Amino acid sequence: MIYDAVVVGSGFSAISTVCNLVELLPETASIAIVGDDPGFGRGTAYRTEFYLHRLNVPAGRMSLFPDRPNAFVEWLRERKRPLDAGDFASRQDYGLYIRDSLAALLRNRKGRCRVDFIKAKATGCVERYASALGFLLDNGNEIAGRSIVLCLGVGNAQLPFDVSRLSAGARSHIIENPWRLSWLRRVGKIDTICILGSGLTMIDQVLALSAHGFMGKIVVLSRRGLVPLDHASHAKPAAEIDVGALPTRMSELLHVLRRKSKDAGDWRSVMDGLRPKTQALWSRLPELERRRFLRHALPWWNVHRHRVAPDVFRRFETMMQSGQVSVRAGYLQNVEEAGALALHYRPRGGSLAAWIEADWIVNCTGMERAGIAHSPLLQEMQRKGLINADPLRLGLTVDARSRVPGSSGNDAVIYAVGALTAGQFWEITAVPDIRVQARNVAQAIAGRLR
Ligand SMILES: Cc1cc2nc3c(=O)[nH]c(=O)nc-3n(C[C@H](O)[C@H](O)[C@H](O)COP(=O)(O)OP(=O)(O)OC[C@H]3O[C@@H](n4cnc5c(N)ncnc54)[C@H](O)[C@@H]3O)c2cc1C
Repeated sequence: MIYDAVVVGSGFSAISTVCNLVELLPETASIAIVGDDPGFGRGTAYRTEFYLHRLNVPAGRMSLFPDRPNAFVEWLRERKRPLDAGDFASRQDYGLYIRDSLAALLRNRKGRCRVDFIKAKATGCVERYASALGFLLDNGNEIAGRSIVLCLGVGNAQLPFDVSRLSAGARSHIIENPWRLSWLRRVGKIDTICILGSGLTMIDQVLALSAHGFMGKIVVLSRRGLVPLDHASHAKPAAEIDVGALPTRMSELLHVLRRKSKDAGDWRSVMDGLRPKTQALWSRLPELERRRFLRHALPWWNVHRHRVAPDVFRRFETMMQSGQVSVRAGYLQNVEEAGALALHYRPRGGSLAAWIEADWIVNCTGMERAGIAHSPLLQEMQRKGLINADPLRLGLTVDARSRVPGSSGNDAVIYAVGALTAGQFWEITAVPDIRVQARNVAQAIAGRLR
């Protein structure tokens, strides 16, 4: 069947796009959403059922709809969750909120367009339609759309070492995808665990281990050994930032931001002031400065920008202070079997090799910005000239309206929503930004039907 819009993917970006399309498209229109995720709308982020996996954005900024900012807080209140707009809800609740919001929209049948949910993976694309682009699905079917919205996320992180020389027994102690929390049940209470990566995923796993009564040691290894910082319990007002007045050379920009942080008395108010303007700032940076940012400033940006809820941070800090968790900075070189698993690494700033002996290795290298390499579908689309990787290899080339330039060579138009568009927008991985982008794309698609 040829749909007016085909949304590929089933995480937050896809559901947010579909919700907006349902609101904006006429009754005669049709939408298909194709995804291989068991819980449409939850993706990796909101599938968790563990209560300590908290949002890292306050509830008041997590509404699905930018024009109804209180929607999530109201949903929480209706469910008797004692949380305010400034509090950090659980990600599990957020997943339920997305599901409920979509269900509420779909229940309202009057005047609503057709929406088909297709649980499948899109494995390839087909260019045999005059004004649509087709997709082959792994269930053997084919669908096509006049407008396509690619919402494929950035994929799971790959293990940063070769496992092929390790025995099956050793490999069974390497947790490549820690989001299936069932691995926690296999861990002995006093085992030693090495976590690769020191970002938000690491914190999630440490808290989950602790809640499971784990008492052994956790050694965290990452290139710089930087761990996420915390949100303030009582946030100061966001600093006023005039993006137009900021320098665009990276070294000067960092200097100005440091000075502003000093003046504000808390760097968090500068980050909070910058937050809604980061896209505007990114759009002003020349490509060379963007590259400099990615090469030199990214790890620092990440720990200041992607902060954790204050109480979550306190729990993590207590585990660090007790010595249960230690963080090392270094470059992983290889992993060998030596009774347990031996991780050989070169400490940062040192020349002598060092190693960590662990019973388990957990891959928390997080959502590496893998460009389009993670997706066979995107690679095929690139080969066929339908899309292009952006110059910084963060995702796809899109214009300021999230539209793939040139697109399909026929009348079909391809858009992308979410982290795949980071080359154009940079700040496009979290709900407050994705929901605006999804609205804009849905409006553009609705405009095509008029
Ligand atoms: C652990 C974690 C916590 C987070 N916490 C927050 C937070 O507190 N606040 C916040 O604002 N943001 C948070 N984020 C950011 C979060 O990534 C976004 O909010 C959002 O979930 C991204 O959704 P997405 O749909 O773009 O990508 P994803 O969630 O990755 O979804 C992509 C989907 O596409 C599907 N897919 C891929 N290829 C195909 C194919 N060929 N065919 C069909 N389907 C396909 C995948 O199976 C997947 O379901 C968090 C992210 C993570 C990982």
